Amino acid sequence: MATENIHPIFDRLLSREERENRLQQRAKVLWLTGLSGSGKSTIAQGLEQRLFAEGYFPQVLDGDNIRTGINNNLGFSLEDRQENIRRIAEVAKLYLDSGVIVLCSFISPTRAIRKQAEEIIGKEDFLEIFIDTPLEVCEARDVKGLYAKARRGEIKGFTGIDSPYEAPERAFLTVPTRDMTVEAAVAQVYTALSPVISLPQ
Ligand code: ADP
Repeated sequence: MATENIHPIFDRLLSREERENRLQQRAKVLWLTGLSGSGKSTIAQGLEQRLFAEGYFPQVLDGDNIRTGINNNLGFSLEDRQENIRRIAEVAKLYLDSGVIVLCSFISPTRAIRKQAEEIIGKEDFLEIFIDTPLEVCEARDVKGLYAKARRGEIKGFTGIDSPYEAPERAFLTVPTRDMTVEAAVAQVYTALSPVISLPQ
């Protein structure tokens, strides 16, 4: 793609630091990964509420919302999943540059896909959170009835059933939700996150 006629104007725009100082926070991207039904959206929503109540300025980016909007032309092949995540990571980066704390809730099933997101967002700002809920627990919850459909063969390529999920090897944080309440899961992430997003006093 020809880029010689594109002239970014970043040096004339407000800096990220100026925006972070206005918002009184350090911007980061939290990347919540895990199986369908593991609790990503629930934890992201709870965390957004908690952060906002504590005076931070967060924004959730969620799989189903993005898939009905900017990514409504993409399916669930590995190639489309990769493009899905590439666009999401670019959107998250725009928020990051605006000083926002971004809570990304996406299955993002392979290490390669998450690596791509990390490369777009930048290692320093990418915090991988593994929502570590075993398949049998997700399947028993079956929040959206999708596991039952996948088992009946009505959905092909469903993560955990007939499409792979690779757990992170070195996540910033692992949240084992099996024996936790939602409140405890949100509190665990908030506690780990707050030193990273706070400005020095
Ligand atoms: P995902 O976004 O990963 O597909 P959801 O957040 O939509 O998953 O669904 C997770 C379900 O699991 C919700 O119904 C939630 O109430 C339930 N749940 C039970 N315990 C927890 C926990 N500790 N953390 C998050 N969700 C939990």
